[in-house]
Amino acid sequence: MEEERIDIEQVNHISAPSVDGQRKRVAIVTGASRGIGRAVAIELARTGVSVVVNYRQQQAAAQQVVETCNAQGVSAISVKADVTDEQAVKQLFVAATALGTPSILVNNAGLADHGLLMDLSVQQWRHIIDTNLTSVFLCSREAIPYMRHWGSGRIVNISSIHGLYGASNEAAYAASKGAMNALTKSLAQELGSLQITVNAVAPGVIETEMLGMFSREEQLDMVDATPVGRLGQPEDVAALVRFLVSDAASFLTGQVISPNGGRMT
Ligand code: NDP
Repeated sequence: MEEERIDIEQVNHISAPSVDGQRKRVAIVTGASRGIGRAVAIELARTGVSVVVNYRQQQAAAQQVVETCNAQGVSAISVKADVTDEQAVKQLFVAATALGTPSILVNNAGLADHGLLMDLSVQQWRHIIDTNLTSVFLCSREAIPYMRHWGSGRIVNISSIHGLYGASNEAAYAASKGAMNALTKSLAQELGSLQITVNAVAPGVIETEMLGMFSREEQLDMVDATPVGRLGQPEDVAALVRFLVSDAASFLTGQVISPNGGRMT
């Protein structure tokens, strides 16, 4: 049964260039088959980090991300795992060791709801909380022994502006992201002495498939609500993640940073 949960699609080792004798860093990016996760995986590969491209369903898309990472000269694998499943998460990390010790975790996998709270079923509520919050607990808990072994680590949680201000019609989503922000701050305090930093990135509206649930008119309203006059792109988020996992950010932890084009609601 376990084998059905996880599936290493491709272990593609490109001989790791050890230009300056530094140890090769390995990042796990959850939900990296598309959207923000995809952009983060590719951006990290550009910095020479080996990347584990986690996905749940979209194998072909994940494989394309692997190939794009390989084109940057780094090793990459795609690993199928539902990050709400405790055993699958354990196996995701075991699979990652094919590249080395994972010392970077980007908790990106997530989904949104759209509708009034009074119409939300308990199943829908649990699905959102499991996907957006419990997965972060499971993956972060699993990451800690690997990061301890490595000697330091970086955890970046992809939150949302709605976790800061709340959002009508997206109450479960906003609640999951608000809790993620509190989890980020708590974990940062627990793990600081291990040189593991934990930060959250809380984007405003970013143009991905997730926006498909909104009408064209609603999307134009979102642009109007954004002072810089455009929606964000996945690369806007990826640039910030790149900084947060860099050596330059070793004193930055427990923060919720919001790339949002100036939007404050
Ligand atoms: P997409 O819907 O484009 O991508 C979501 C990704 O998450 C997919 O790769 C999907 O995999 C994966 N995923 C979903 N559930 C699971 C699961 N149980 N296990 C493993 N992977 C899973 O979303 P975005 O790129 O827009 O969003 C990425 C993150 O950014 C989310 O956490 C979202 O809340 C956050 N965010 C997005 C904003 C936006 O405006 N787009 C704004 C603020 C935050 P699969 O394709 O296999 O289902």
